[in-house]
Amino acid sequence: MKAPAAMQQELIGLAQCDRDLGQLAHRLSALPARAELAAVVAALTTAEADLTAVATGILALESELARADSDVAAVRERIVRDQARMDDGSAPARELVSLTHEVSSLVRRQADLEDLELEVMERLEAATRERTDLAQRIGDLQQRREALSATVAQALAEAEQEQVRLQQRRDGICLVLDPELRALYERIRAERGDVGAVRLTEGRCDGCRLVLTPADRQRCLQADPDEVLRCEDCRRILVRDGKPRQPLDDDVAAR
Ligand SMILES: [Zn+2]
Repeated sequence: MKAPAAMQQELIGLAQCDRDLGQLAHRLSALPARAELAAVVAALTTAEADLTAVATGILALESELARADSDVAAVRERIVRDQARMDDGSAPARELVSLTHEVSSLVRRQADLEDLELEVMERLEAATRERTDLAQRIGDLQQRREALSATVAQALAEAEQEQVRLQQRRDGICLVLDPELRALYERIRAERGDVGAVRLTEGRCDGCRLVLTPADRQRCLQADPDEVLRCEDCRRILVRDGKPRQPLDDDVAAR
């Protein structure tokens, strides 16, 4: 294929746009704030689930405590009633024996219930502390999430601006390219996944770093400047610098 040498030079600008666009996309996908944001959102979800579980546990403990309270009150009331019956002197001797047994059994029962009550209160206290800690942690995580979201949004907005700028530049270059040359470039770019054209620098392909054999190098230097050269290895378009074409051996011989 042939294309004016000046037009071939434009391919280097086009390749730079593609390289910059690729780096921009990579930078965005690897944005540290984005990874941290994902971690914070995950931690927040866990903390919120923990808080729900702790709050449910607190409700259960509160009703357990209310039950224990009312059990203790009922036993206490019964002791008072039995004691009053024993003290008023109206109960026959047999009933007094039975009341004495009942009162001592009720006193033991009251002590057991009070122990249980205490244990529930301790658990409730611990759960309430945990709820306060979790609420604090959720508040901190929410703040961090807001800050990180703002950072990510700003980075995205900046990247979008940069992307528009690069795309406009790219479109501008494409306008001056011969459609056939452009199609070739785009095809190679799609195949290679980065750029379709590179510089030929001192006999080396800037794409795959292949060093041309002296014969190939000579062939490239002597080729018509409008000839579109391709790397033998990576097949990218090789753009020579703007220096004038070296004379062919035949040209020299002809002089
Ligand atoms: Zn190459």
